[in-house]
Amino acid sequence: MIPYGRQAISEADIAAVVEVLRSDFITQGPQIDRFEQNLAAYCGAAYGVAVCNATAALHIACMALDVGPGKMVWTAANTFLASANCARYCGADVDFVDTDSDTYNMSVPALKAKLEQARAAGRKLPDVVIPVHFAGQSPDMKGIAALGAEYGFRIIEDASHAVGGDYLGGKIGNCRYSDMVVFSFHPVKILTTGEGGMVMCRTPELSKALRLLRSHGMTRVAEDLERKDEGPWYYEQALLGYNYRITDIQAALGNSQFSRIDEFVARRRELAARYDRLLQGLPLRTPLQHPDGKSAFHLYPIWIDEEAAGRSRRAVFDALRAAGIGVNVHYIPVYTQPDYRKLGFQAGLCPNAERYYAGAISLPMYAALSDSEQDTVVAAVRGALA
Ligand SMILES: *Cc1c(COP(=O)(O)O)cnc(C)c1O
Repeated sequence: MIPYGRQAISEADIAAVVEVLRSDFITQGPQIDRFEQNLAAYCGAAYGVAVCNATAALHIACMALDVGPGKMVWTAANTFLASANCARYCGADVDFVDTDSDTYNMSVPALKAKLEQARAAGRKLPDVVIPVHFAGQSPDMKGIAALGAEYGFRIIEDASHAVGGDYLGGKIGNCRYSDMVVFSFHPVKILTTGEGGMVMCRTPELSKALRLLRSHGMTRVAEDLERKDEGPWYYEQALLGYNYRITDIQAALGNSQFSRIDEFVARRRELAARYDRLLQGLPLRTPLQHPDGKSAFHLYPIWIDEEAAGRSRRAVFDALRAAGIGVNVHYIPVYTQPDYRKLGFQAGLCPNAERYYAGAISLPMYAALSDSEQDTVVAAVRGALA
């Protein structure tokens, strides 16, 4: 089976992990700081705060913006569960913005219309908006930030798919159009630490809040203590935090992987260009690259035109799986999940997201995919549509 995504682990990665295992620190050692600094410098962000996964990163990013009961968070309909669940962990309400039919990202016209309707109807406006870099491509962050300034919401970018991607002359993660940007290092993503995530931010205040939140809300920094003279063993809980720490073992893997980030992204882009070429003329849509950016290509999602193909997405998907191609579907619109329907969400909320979902198939896309494996995938797609 050729999977839809997988990690690329080198001997150097293994050696880096082993070295940490032999060292004094297997958690909270020097590799974590280095990993944060590597990514912050690479993206052009002031700070990176590494955590145990991107879901935890989204949770503390929301907390750092005071998301809580009575607050409202809007996110993309076409995303993984975690982009919405993070608001609910905080006790906030969540709502969904429909999809752009070209990029499958959050549609800025749809966001604008939803904001205008909410304002006109006296409904709650969002306190925070979480756009998602679907498949590795930046949404129209400039447009979203302009609406943020007009309507007074803060912005967290869920860039779980997009480390290494580019947008308007900068690296995704630079926080130019947002308060914070979140990355995931799950094995199917661009870089991996096994499990892992990071929040990028611009201000020392946010960096400090995130560091507290990831480790029990605990501080030992002398100037931050209420009781200054208690003793050298003393720590204080300044707020209710979590244990969302990453280990030095994982960060060592992250640093070793990081040294190949440009290579990984370049290979993904090469594979995407090759798919674009090899899939021409078939009754499907290949993913569109908006001229404002360059995708990191976490995913290569095709959209089956069921009418033109004369067969269902399901039939194509089943044929590909039967041919040993580990295709997948990204994403089931989050609000159609049973746990969201319980909150009152109904089908029809985001018609573009639903239409996209109905035809979507993610083809294998990862740095270690060879040209000949890709040719096998393309032949199977042709076979499934023939
Ligand atoms: C993978 C993913 C997450 C969650 O990442 P974890 O590191 O697995 O917690 C969040 N949002 C999106 C869009 C993702 O694809």
